[in-house]
Amino acid sequence: MFLGCCICGKMTEISKANKKYIIESEEFTCSLNCVKGWIKSNDKYDSVGKVASEMLHNVYAYPRHSGSIRYRSEYENRVAYFVSNILDITFGYEMHGFNLSTGTYTPDFWLRDFNVFFEVKGIITVGWRKKLKRFREEYPEVKLLFIPWILKDKFYNLPNLCGLRDVR
Ligand SMILES: [Zn+2]
Repeated sequence: MFLGCCICGKMTEISKANKKYIIESEEFTCSLNCVKGWIKSNDKYDSVGKVASEMLHNVYAYPRHSGSIRYRSEYENRVAYFVSNILDITFGYEMHGFNLSTGTYTPDFWLRDFNVFFEVKGIITVGWRKKLKRFREEYPEVKLLFIPWILKDKFYNLPNLCGLRDVR
């Protein structure tokens, strides 16, 4: 299976073993640079950004953390480092929950200055796939990038955050 990068257009072959980490209908980014390109391609002043911004006032936002953030996985930790220290972009972690007709969904990262979200996941379950599909249907204006797990080596090659050991 080949997937085209939504930013640079390059085709990447996804091995059979890695297929389970991919949702074919999602925008695919082939590199960290293209993840950056995707963020910058979402102009915070365009109408989509404004709509998303207005929508955030209609969903619930709740404080999840007092003090330092504890990520759910080392992978999230690496993505957080990338966004914060490499891209120098401020983010909120699990800050906005969206009401869905079937429950709620809280994206992992909200890059507030660009009004976009990141979802970071390894294995993709059937339930998760359904939830993301529901979110896309009910919030088509909200920009969310599903970070492909197959980029994990690139994230893991970044320096450590908070002195955590490399868990690979
Ligand atoms: Zn690319």
